[in-house]
Amino acid sequence: MDRTFLIKPVLDADYPLIDYGKGVYLYDAEGKEYLDASSGAITANIGHGVQEIIDAMQEQAKKVSFVYRSQFTSEPAEKLARKIANLSLPNLNWCFFVNSGSEATETAMKIAIQYWQEKGVFTKTKVLSRWMSYHGITMGALSMSGHTGRRARFIPLLEDFPVIQPPYCYRCPYNKEAPECGYLCAHELETIIKRIGADHIAAFIAEPVIGAAGAAITPPKDYYKVIKEICERHNILFIADEVMTGFGRTGTMLACEQWDIEPDIVTLGKGMGAGYTPIAATLVGDHVMEPVLKGSKTIMGGHTLSANPQACAVSLAVIEYLEKNKIIPEVEKKGAFLMNELLELQKQYPFIGDVRGRGLMIGLEFVQNPADKIPFPRDYQVTERLISLAQMNGLLLYPAGAGSDGVSGDAVMIAPPLTISNKEMEELIKRLKETLQQFFEQYIN
Ligand code: PLP
Repeated sequence: MDRTFLIKPVLDADYPLIDYGKGVYLYDAEGKEYLDASSGAITANIGHGVQEIIDAMQEQAKKVSFVYRSQFTSEPAEKLARKIANLSLPNLNWCFFVNSGSEATETAMKIAIQYWQEKGVFTKTKVLSRWMSYHGITMGALSMSGHTGRRARFIPLLEDFPVIQPPYCYRCPYNKEAPECGYLCAHELETIIKRIGADHIAAFIAEPVIGAAGAAITPPKDYYKVIKEICERHNILFIADEVMTGFGRTGTMLACEQWDIEPDIVTLGKGMGAGYTPIAATLVGDHVMEPVLKGSKTIMGGHTLSANPQACAVSLAVIEYLEKNKIIPEVEKKGAFLMNELLELQKQYPFIGDVRGRGLMIGLEFVQNPADKIPFPRDYQVTERLISLAQMNGLLLYPAGAGSDGVSGDAVMIAPPLTISNKEMEELIKRLKETLQQFFEQYIN
């Protein structure tokens, strides 16, 4: 193909040209088949080319694709808000629709600050978060992110929001094991609150299972209970960033259901449109909206395409598809199958130091030596090499470790469409094994 001026992630890289997708498979213009074991960027939750979604798109496009939200509301937007409220936790009844996960987390930050302002508190403006987290690429979202690689260029422009250690049990900073550790990493939140003063903190934001910067770092059982208790005691809102984990990725509609906590605000994205349309949302608890309803009666977060009827119709069709085919209830079982297979591979390839995750969001972290967990030197480019070998073998993996953030060890995530069949999972493992064997022969042996 002739060179164009499309800005791609790596400007001089030679990306294959996609032709079409069907189910868990993608096909490029040369006819090469790829098993999409990462759902793109953990997004294509129901697979590619689903006819029901194409039909829903056409149907809505025939009626109206765009209206300005200050002039009209629309049936798809109203229906979607109601549906999401019904599917999520009881207190989360309000929905603000945006176009990307970054906008959803920025909106969450703004709503948290506005909540305190409506109550007459103007000093609570900081949002605390965790090291090795990722909440999006816009300036507010980056300010809340502990993703060194993506922050580096803009540090002087970012808000200096404090971060605490993540629940990274594989490399526990305290060198202890849960639950005997007493959740020391969660208790760091209290230390930081005391240092800064709760009067200056609007909220704490966390991904229930850490994705892009941590490769499925999954906290132990009572971790979020400790976090939520500290937040409540200090009058700090808890925002669960479920942009990656939401919409069934970890086996429940929201991942935080599995830790039995109810956040004050939740963000959704990725799986919400399943890649068929840009759409994301900020869900807000009744108690957070109450002072806004009594006060300014508006959320300061307008986006031209917010609550776009076309996007909302597609998201509704994605939910209908998930429900009709009972996809989310199967995720735990499928995840357990994949996890067992991956643990078997770990026995054969000890450079897989850790296998972790929930449901169909599984991370593999690679180490030079499993006994002391020493990471590979960065210039070995382990993540990049594995991903490129996998791609040659027709397997798409998601880079989520040092290859992307420079903090955690080399790691990839395996997160196929939730619709993946047993046979396809076996094929995924077969292609992964081939890739690991080649990597072993070329770079380790
Ligand atoms: N929050 C989380 C947890 C994410 O994983 C991401 C993207 O990976 C975002 C926010 C940002 O979403 P987007 O890329 O749609 O802006």
